[in-house]
Amino acid sequence: RNYLREYDFIIVGSGPAGCVLANRLTENPNWNVLLIEAGTLEGPIEEIPILAPYMFLTRYNWGYNAEPQPYACLGLKNGQCGFPRGRALGGTSVINGMLYTRGTKQDFERWVQLGNYGWDYEEFVLPAFKRSEKANLKYYYKPDYHNHSGLLAVEHNPHKTPIADIFINANKAMGLNEIDYNSDDTVGVAHLQANTLNGKRHSAYKSFIEPILRRKNLHIMLNTHATKVLINPKTRIAHGVEMIRRNRRILIWARKEVILSAGSFHSPQLLMLSGIGPKHDLDRIGVPLLHNSPVGKEMHDHISFPGLVFVTNLTNPTADFLGFQNVIPFMFQYLGGKGFMTIANGVEALGFIKTPTSNSPHSGLPDVELILLALTPQTDGGYAVKESERLQSSIYDAVYKPLENMGTYTFLIVLSLFHPKSVGYLELRNRNPLSSPKFFANFFKEPDDVETLLDAIKYTLRLIETEPFKKIGTRVHDIPIPSCAQHEFGSDDYWRCAIRTFCVSLHHQVGTCKMGPSSDPTAIVSPELKVYGVKRLRVVDTSIIPESTTSHTNAASFMIGERAADFIKDDWRS
Ligand SMILES: Cc1cc2nc3c(=O)[nH]c(=O)nc-3n(C[C@H](O)[C@H](O)[C@H](O)COP(=O)(O)OP(=O)(O)OC[C@H]3O[C@@H](n4cnc5c(N)ncnc54)[C@H](O)[C@@H]3O)c2cc1C
Repeated sequence: RNYLREYDFIIVGSGPAGCVLANRLTENPNWNVLLIEAGTLEGPIEEIPILAPYMFLTRYNWGYNAEPQPYACLGLKNGQCGFPRGRALGGTSVINGMLYTRGTKQDFERWVQLGNYGWDYEEFVLPAFKRSEKANLKYYYKPDYHNHSGLLAVEHNPHKTPIADIFINANKAMGLNEIDYNSDDTVGVAHLQANTLNGKRHSAYKSFIEPILRRKNLHIMLNTHATKVLINPKTRIAHGVEMIRRNRRILIWARKEVILSAGSFHSPQLLMLSGIGPKHDLDRIGVPLLHNSPVGKEMHDHISFPGLVFVTNLTNPTADFLGFQNVIPFMFQYLGGKGFMTIANGVEALGFIKTPTSNSPHSGLPDVELILLALTPQTDGGYAVKESERLQSSIYDAVYKPLENMGTYTFLIVLSLFHPKSVGYLELRNRNPLSSPKFFANFFKEPDDVETLLDAIKYTLRLIETEPFKKIGTRVHDIPIPSCAQHEFGSDDYWRCAIRTFCVSLHHQVGTCKMGPSSDPTAIVSPELKVYGVKRLRVVDTSIIPESTTSHTNAASFMIGERAADFIKDDWRS
């Protein structure tokens, strides 16, 4: 492809938001669009849903870690939580867990309350979610909230293990209803809805770019690293992008707009490298200031506890799913769109609960998610948990290794905070665009977050006492984490210690280019996603989300891409 010197729109980053935008803007044959992506094309291995936890270990991950923290991640290598991010055409949707959860109506009402016009749930947000979606759901769902003719596939997992229905029934026994969490339902339990198509990962590339590869007005540059937005210092108009491609510095110009869709870590990085950021931080790294703005000063995330493993009396055909004897039959099933390998990230069902110590800003909304996984740390000899979640080998060997080769069914319930009080931030290490930013996660800086997870553990321990779980002899795996063994196993102090020792991010960092009205001193972009202080520059990705939603963030990213396309089309209609 011969690239042009100038395009109407340049989009930096091809995550879900960037892919949706590239698709929607090139619907207009009179506009041309350049999509720049640092990564490359996904391959067939990335499509296999059960292998999602291993995508951390591929070239499709930027491979970042948070800085060591005093209150959290204490049992992880170097005390650092992993902060993976996708680097591919399709962005993080190529390596993520494929869980499709949108958030509640109340989450988006809150965005509007914060002054963000244009994000009303009924009028704009729900239609944008539905516009993207191509749903094919077989368990309980509410048809009014779904669309069957969009581009992004949403399915219930084609396969379920026995534990999925037991989990649903046990939660019902605890008083929850079976819900469609992508509707007006809030608290309850549900089978997973995932971004898979016939049991294969359906990434942003597969859904929004592959179908339009023949459009002549879309040019895509892979393996190209944007290093700066070019902004005229007098007019303050963004008019191009500087990038590195095959070790060469290239400048390409934008007639209408530059759009950063580089995700929650790199959109703020690019803004700061371009002179838009906190004055003090830019002075420190020697970037001339163009506009003083609190870029990166808030980083909200979903803090999670993945340490609760349960043992049952069921025999387990999938105990060694990577074992040679299993891989071949499983692969044949997978090729037919069926079987164990089609379970997205190993996740079968989700519970949405409200704990007594709820941190949720909205009454009635869940504050903890229960994520049921058919994979446990020892399923693959500890490979994923040690390499992806960075669990120290000594902890793995003491706690989980004894479960290896037991042959009985074990399962994991990950507990995740929807609305933690602890908020982190990021800043640039230096002015080198190829350096990783520095991430200060601040997990559990607010002790209330530990107490909420403790409440969730207590709920889960009651859950396995219900009849459906009792019938299969379910019990909590009770070998203590050695560094917490001074507390009696199962005591509140034991769990508090375990939570701080083995916690992970769910990789839902948002707010680093926060959206808000001009009256909000913490806002970086306007409700139409225009960067304050500069013209013709927008940020369109999950970094604009002002506060964590009651959901994972991939669906929101598609929705944000849809809304941004509406804003841009409205602005340039004439
Ligand atoms: C391991 C993992 C599992 C997850 N699981 C789930 C899940 O199951 N469900 C869910 O809802 N959410 C999940 N998430 C979160 C979700 O996938 C992300 O929030 C979402 O994909 C972010 O989309 P985005 O459009 O903001 O940006 P991204 O998807 O991060 O895309 C940004 C793109 O920009 C590119 N880029 C960055 N900098 C540059 C540059 N300088 N030049 C050129 N290109 C650049 C990147 O390479 C990337 O391709 C997960 C995240 C991770 C990391």
